[in-house]
Amino acid sequence: MIKYNLNCKKCKHSFDSWFASSLEFEKLKKKGFLTCIKCNSKKVVKSLMAPKIASKKNYITGVNDNSKIKEIYKKVKEYQGFIRKNFKYVGKNFAYEARSIHFENKKNNKGIYGTATSDEINELHEEGIKTEIIPWIKDKSN
Ligand SMILES: [Zn+2]
Repeated sequence: MIKYNLNCKKCKHSFDSWFASSLEFEKLKKKGFLTCIKCNSKKVVKSLMAPKIASKKNYITGVNDNSKIKEIYKKVKEYQGFIRKNFKYVGKNFAYEARSIHFENKKNNKGIYGTATSDEINELHEEGIKTEIIPWIKDKSN
C-alpha cells in the first residue's frame, strides 16, 4: 500500500488516498476513476512533496514498529540536511527552474529541489529533463 497526497486542480482541495501501488494509481487516473472527494473533478494530481512511509508490514521490509520508523525519519532528515546544504530550494517553481537550467545550460548552477505536480514531472521527462522523486518529511512531523 502506498499513500499519496492528492491535489484537486479545480477546487484546490488536498486529500490523502491509499493505493495498492503507484501502477494502480496510474491505471485509475488513466481510466478517469480518480476524482476529487470534494468537487468530483477529474483534475486530480499527485503531490510529490512526501511519498509517505507507511507503517504497514509489507511496505518496507521489517519496518513495522515505531522505533524503526523513527530511525528512518532520522536518516531522511539527515538526507534532507544534505540536500538543503547542496541544493537550492525553489519551492513550487521547480519545473520552471529545472527548464531554465536545462535549456540555458547553466553549468555552474547548484542543483535544485522543490515541489512539482506529477503532470509537471511527466512534461519534464518528455523534454528530456531528469528528475528524482525523493522522500521528504515536513519539519512539523517531528
Ligand atoms: Zn476538487
